[in-house]
Amino acid sequence: MYELNKKLRKIVGYDPAAGTSKIILDANESPFNALDSFRDEIMTAVGNLKLNRYPDPYATEVVTAFAKFYGLDEKYVTAGNGSDELISIIISCFLQKGDKILTLSPDFSMYAFYSKLYETNVTIMPKDEIYNTFSVGKIIEQCNNNDIKAVIFSNPCNPTSLGIKREEIIRLIKNVFCLVVIDEAYMDFWDQSILQEIEDFDNVIVLKTLSKAFGAAGIRLGFAVSNEVVTGALRAAKSPYNTDLFSQEIGRIILSHPDEAAKNIAYIKASRERLQEELTELSRIYPCLDKVYDSQTNFVFIKTSKGLAIYEKLLERGISIRYMGIYIRITAGTREENEELLTALREILKELCDTD
Ligand SMILES: *Cc1c(COP(=O)(O)O)cnc(C)c1O
Repeated sequence: MYELNKKLRKIVGYDPAAGTSKIILDANESPFNALDSFRDEIMTAVGNLKLNRYPDPYATEVVTAFAKFYGLDEKYVTAGNGSDELISIIISCFLQKGDKILTLSPDFSMYAFYSKLYETNVTIMPKDEIYNTFSVGKIIEQCNNNDIKAVIFSNPCNPTSLGIKREEIIRLIKNVFCLVVIDEAYMDFWDQSILQEIEDFDNVIVLKTLSKAFGAAGIRLGFAVSNEVVTGALRAAKSPYNTDLFSQEIGRIILSHPDEAAKNIAYIKASRERLQEELTELSRIYPCLDKVYDSQTNFVFIKTSKGLAIYEKLLERGISIRYMGIYIRITAGTREENEELLTALREILKELCDTD
């Protein structure tokens, strides 16, 4: 009888967001569908695709559009089937079985997931429980004293919504010998990217995605930015046709309209700021919202002992947020969506929590 191997017998897949609620604020997506902005252009491009032919293995046109958008040279860019695929390629190829990799907690769960799947030796460093930050000095020490081959984290962080400043990130990169993978999925909402400095470093990969700020999680397009040697290895190691014709075409169109991106990002930032202020105000009234964190992202992270009840009661009202044990995470939606959420939340908190 065939038996799954040990690692597959134990495997727990990623728990994806439900996606059926009227108001979806659980996966940090954009409230704006990129198709609404570029419908004609996308329809025309899709109408001319040669589906019988393999797509460009290096996704040259979308890579060029991405490089232009961020002011980079395209020789530093690799396209992936979502940054998720790139995380998987990086961990499976830049580490060998048993190599040590350092991740943090809380952080994006896929780093530890792939690290375990590929049989690396993963250390998960807990963040400070109240402030949810980490010290770059401690990471440097860990990397250099424990023969760590790679460290990977998101900046700004999902789920904590907090970011580490550019100087500190550069201090980390310069003081370790290992590979440093910085997932900048949310950096479009902050201004501390190290993308511009990429050619100065031989041990860095920065990850980007169209899934959060660009309203295109559905096409699965992510990018890795690294120096030429690392980029050469990434391009050689990935599967040849990892991004399909549709994502290449649609991604190229989205990235060719920086004004539209800037407009949406500005809206989302304002929406998140307002949501965060309102939630902070609620936390002053209801102590069961222990702490509303600062945010450099498009979502708000909250420490609360009533997370599960809040999550369930919002779901009953057609609003989905992310429940994560002692925390909840709420994506900023449109102004109208935020208002509905806040109205529901006020009722729920009145029921669940004693006021001060
Ligand atoms: C959402 C998210 C991703 C996933 O990006 P895709 O390009 O959709 O695969 C990667 N990293 C972080 C930190 C995220 O929050």
